[in-house]
Amino acid sequence: MIVAKFGGSSVADAGQFKKVRAIVEANADRKVIVVSAAGKSDSEAIKVTDLLIEVEKLRDAGEDYMPVYNHIQSRFVGIRDALGLKVGIETDLQKIAKQIPNCSHDYLVSRGEFLTAKLMADFLGYQFIDAARFLVFDQNGVNYGESINRLRDFLSYDDHIVVPGFYGVDEDGLTHLMPRGGSDISGALLANFVDADLYENWTDVSGIKMADPRIINNSRKITELTYEELQELSYMGISVFQEEAIQPAKEKQIPIAILNTNHPEEDGTLVVDSANSNAHQLVTGIAGKKDYVVISIQKYQLNKRLDVMAKVFSVIQKFGVKFDYVPAGTDSVQFLAKRTDVDGKLMAIVNSLKSACDLDSVKLEKNIAMVAAVSSQLSKRPAIAGKILDLLDNSQIKIHLVVQEGSDIKVVFGVANSDYEKTIEKIYRSAAVSATRLKMVI
Ligand code: ASP
Repeated sequence: MIVAKFGGSSVADAGQFKKVRAIVEANADRKVIVVSAAGKSDSEAIKVTDLLIEVEKLRDAGEDYMPVYNHIQSRFVGIRDALGLKVGIETDLQKIAKQIPNCSHDYLVSRGEFLTAKLMADFLGYQFIDAARFLVFDQNGVNYGESINRLRDFLSYDDHIVVPGFYGVDEDGLTHLMPRGGSDISGALLANFVDADLYENWTDVSGIKMADPRIINNSRKITELTYEELQELSYMGISVFQEEAIQPAKEKQIPIAILNTNHPEEDGTLVVDSANSNAHQLVTGIAGKKDYVVISIQKYQLNKRLDVMAKVFSVIQKFGVKFDYVPAGTDSVQFLAKRTDVDGKLMAIVNSLKSACDLDSVKLEKNIAMVAAVSSQLSKRPAIAGKILDLLDNSQIKIHLVVQEGSDIKVVFGVANSDYEKTIEKIYRSAAVSATRLKMVI
């Protein structure tokens, strides 16, 4: 069985709905369909989810939200009419309208998925199943056992269903919204619950590129990568697939295919378990983020000075800052945070470290970009990291730091913000392509 999730642009208008139906009908195994809310299209500049957020803002400011809500209503009625469907979507729209003055954020913002799924179910001739009937969240996150039990109660193997993504229900029966892009998570959870053979994630791109296409024109596509590699790339900012959607598929080793609704004939990217991976490329993907700050502290034999480290951590705790990386050496530790996470407190942190911790020195570097090269080959051939380092050195890119701890499938280089694009380009270009493997040409 295949669970197929269609993103916002795939369900943005009647024309996109027709593409979805053609895809669904092309394979009888596509029995569980998950949809996002209607997204942007040529004629619609704003996603329904963002329009609903706007409705909420206006409501909370005591302003008239009806013009925005009317626009949402006409989008759904328009899709319904253009598809010649009979489903009485007006009843749902009116019910929601009545609830807007008093309903919760989660309920209101989830209505885009609810309405889109209702239309899609009717269009496909599949059964509409509200995620609120089975997808249960408790204080620890998704309650798998309870969710699967509830789903089993009304779903048999041969059912064909459409489920709205992005939300479920809490233990008190109230709507529980997931993070933005959460329909990917819903799809992965459904795939897990029904033990799917494949989880298809239909988007508007034909898979994941090896490097950001805004930096690398015509970047190669990643044909196959492992769950862990995707996790690392998502953490470093690639946004094709919601990071939290990996785990539910990984847990049951369900392959994830990232495909393009507008070009279903194109192969996308396949995400698999490392044991089943055929890929041997030396660098699978490159991703990064700008605007980090680095606080470097120095003390002779710091690694033995637990008393000093205790003081350092108490300063950090006091400011409640989340550091993304903390590489350490014998005499030094570096703390890396996104600039936005330390804005306003940076100087105070540095001053407290200087005055309260008995350190030899405290240094601050700003405008640092972190660039990660990700590859499961790195764990088997750590020399790859050294080769990349040489390459960057030869290109006169100043490396401020290298982080290779934690996951052994990525190496992260800290460079100046102004060298960010050049660094990605150098690593990318150095991976010369042969039919089945990429060789570092340095
Ligand atoms: N509609 C939601 C969003 O825009 C969830 C999703 O698309 O997955 O974030």
